[in-house]
Amino acid sequence: MDLTKFQELMRKLYFDKDKKRGVFKTFAWLVQEVGELGRALLNGNRDAIMEEMGDVLAWLSSLANILDIDLSEAAQRKYPGVCPKCGCKPCRCPENV
Ligand SMILES: [Mg+2]
Ligand SMILES: [Zn+2]
Repeated sequence: MDLTKFQELMRKLYFDKDKKRGVFKTFAWLVQEVGELGRALLNGNRDAIMEEMGDVLAWLSSLANILDIDLSEAAQRKYPGVCPKCGCKPCRCPENV
């Protein structure tokens, strides 16, 4: 499933609840799921890592839906096929460590 279709699915499933919950409580859920992803990475369980990545994407989609932001458009705007800093593909920036 591509990002646009996934975001649309999250809208169909959850938009009413997401809207009622609002931006900051939804952001808090996103942060909670990022924390769960961190714990899954520490445990090294691949199934758990995949599950939490799904959760992170779902909550990011919910947040984007509340704000009426198209995640695919946001991604392409920031990353238009080359590294936004050095303009190269692959990136030639100094290593991030
Ligand atoms: Mg989770
Ligand atoms: Zn770069």
